[in-house]
Amino acid sequence: IKKIGVLTSGGDAPGMNAAIRSVVRTCAFHDIKCYGIYRGYEGMIDGDFIEMDARSVKGIINKGGTILKSARSKEFRTKEGRQIAYDQLKKAGIDAFVVIGGDGSFTGAMIFNKEFNFPVMGIPGTIDNDIFGTTHTLGYDTALNTVVEVIDKIRDTASSHNRLFFVEVMGRDVGHIALNVGIAGGAEEILIPEEDLGLDRLVESLRRSKKSGKSSSIVVVAEGDKIGKSVFELKDYVDQNMEGYDVRVSVLGHMQRGGPPSCFDRVFASRMGVKAVESLITGKSNYMVGMKNDLIELTPFDQAVKGKSKINKELLRVSDIMSI
Ligand code: ATP
Repeated sequence: IKKIGVLTSGGDAPGMNAAIRSVVRTCAFHDIKCYGIYRGYEGMIDGDFIEMDARSVKGIINKGGTILKSARSKEFRTKEGRQIAYDQLKKAGIDAFVVIGGDGSFTGAMIFNKEFNFPVMGIPGTIDNDIFGTTHTLGYDTALNTVVEVIDKIRDTASSHNRLFFVEVMGRDVGHIALNVGIAGGAEEILIPEEDLGLDRLVESLRRSKKSGKSSSIVVVAEGDKIGKSVFELKDYVDQNMEGYDVRVSVLGHMQRGGPPSCFDRVFASRMGVKAVESLITGKSNYMVGMKNDLIELTPFDQAVKGKSKINKELLRVSDIMSI
């Protein structure tokens, strides 16, 4: 392997820059040329490449987002699009790539590998932590810290006015963010896509907390919570069915994806970049790099894509006990 490409694809996540830096510097360390591929698979199809050396990635370890930009590419989902991408890589002499993204990006890489026998390696970059084969995804730890900081601030205003807040956090399919920030932020209830707590239990829990003398309440709601109600519908329900509550809603949105990566994510990204490049050098391909028991390990793409990341049931119990 003489030239490795690196791209960021799908939704952006804090720590992607630290991962790009690590890939570029590991290539430099092993005397391999490295090319940044702009705008994910879109840029691959357009041949939008830039040669990068160890100095090209200075000053980015602490920056959120991705200097290579990210995109979703419809064309790459077609055989013709992937053929163009392959021709572009060949033209530039790139003989392997590392894709930093989510399971969609890995599926694309896996199909590309199969069609062209092209060496590929993946780094899981998404705040959702929804990828099988790794205890963490890149950006998840940062997002948790960002959201907890905001919940602390909401708590200040909630307790000053004896208010009940429904706080919506990211998580269409998985409740990792909601469950963790809910516990860390002292939420009364946490609504997640994996468990249907039911409106009755929510109401009962709010009544109980009021009775026990709590001056404010925070309910953390994942976007895809199983009760199937939006935070605004939940507010309406409480307004209509419970007396004496001043209910507010806060939807955190895209701010959860921004900001400087946490120390954990910077170190994690650095470790995964080294592993990705060195695995390609030793002839490995079609794997996702990830973390298991604090070790950086490889999981075959097909397992990473097919497997389901599961919620930790112990956390549900801890959250129950803490909200007494
Ligand atoms: P996020 O966690 O933000 O959703 P992701 O990597 O899962 O990240 P997707 O939009 O699902 O994001 O995928 C990113 C890109 O990967 C797509 O825009 C597309 O170009 C490519 N891709 C996804 N699925 C396939 C597929 N089945 N075949 C070919 N390419 C695909």
